[in-house]
Amino acid sequence: MAMPHFTVHQPKTLEQALDLLSRHRSGVKLLAGGTDLLMKMRQAGLKAEHLVSLNRVEGLRTISYRDEDGLVIGGAARLADVGRHPGVAQHYPALAHACSVMATPQIRNMGTVAGNLVNAAPSADTAAPLLAYGASLVAVERGGRRQIKLQDFFRGPGLSVLEPLEIVEAIRVPAPPARCGSAYERLSARSQVDIAAVGVAGLLNLDLEGRVLRCRLALGAVAPTPVRCLEAEQMLEGQAPDEALLMRAGASCVRSCQPIDDVRASAAFRRAMVQVLAQRVLKRCLALAQGGAS
Ligand SMILES: Cc1cc2nc3c(=O)[nH]c(=O)nc-3n(C[C@H](O)[C@H](O)[C@H](O)COP(=O)(O)OP(=O)(O)OC[C@H]3O[C@@H](n4cnc5c(N)ncnc54)[C@H](O)[C@@H]3O)c2cc1C
Repeated sequence: MAMPHFTVHQPKTLEQALDLLSRHRSGVKLLAGGTDLLMKMRQAGLKAEHLVSLNRVEGLRTISYRDEDGLVIGGAARLADVGRHPGVAQHYPALAHACSVMATPQIRNMGTVAGNLVNAAPSADTAAPLLAYGASLVAVERGGRRQIKLQDFFRGPGLSVLEPLEIVEAIRVPAPPARCGSAYERLSARSQVDIAAVGVAGLLNLDLEGRVLRCRLALGAVAPTPVRCLEAEQMLEGQAPDEALLMRAGASCVRSCQPIDDVRASAAFRRAMVQVLAQRVLKRCLALAQGGAS
């Protein structure tokens, strides 16, 4: 399919970007890396006469980490830059891993974390780690700014609560506490270039006695949206974790998914892999939280 004609605008500030959105409101789309948007325009008939690029907007590609504030990922920060940021590598290994193994180097150099979330694919690789870390999106429009918890963000495949004239200015992720371990595992049908058929992210935070203070488990590609595994989380919180408990909790994650058969995997394979990956992720999280992982 031929690419339709469109005009690209290159605002330098967020205000200019917001003005352009409201001026062209019916036929306008935001453009970050373009790795999802331009594919949809070329192959899926998505129409937009005006694209407002976020790539020259001052400050939007910034990534910062401070113990007091946690991680702030700018709304146009590239996947590759997030994956190799020292603060992300040290404090958010599940996110660093997702950003370093998904897609191809070319796509990671162009694509952004915000674009990955706003595109709202059930398989979005950054979604499960960011759900496990309790991330929020900061959305701005001309009238103001609001913070949206990522767990309230997704509405269905390709759907989110973001309004058409809102821009994700940043993604905020709280600083992980002491005695915390986190991990992400994904499987794709052919190779990592293919989008994930199953993704599992986890986080375990232990108290001084080694009991689980907080557990977060999130799944990608096995439900209409990325989902938390509340049953498994509750099973672990307050408990002294041992191998048998981790195995039971991992197995219970299967009850949080609603997988479908598609070209990437059957629903039965996805269910089986949710259990395997969740158990693997939990073991890794525990080893990291206990300070024993290499
Ligand atoms: C070959 C290939 C392989 C891929 N492999 C993977 C994979 O393994 N895993 C995976 O998860 N994804 C994969 N993708 C999908 C894609 O690369 C990612 O989703 C990427 O992170 C999208 O980011 P982007 O900046 O390119 O988004 P864009 O295409 O620029 O935008 C996507 C959507 O988000 C909106 N948007 C972007 N930024 C903002 C913002 N700041 N505020 C509000 N709205 C915004 C746009 O308007 C658009 O609707 C792949 C794509 C290709 C082409």
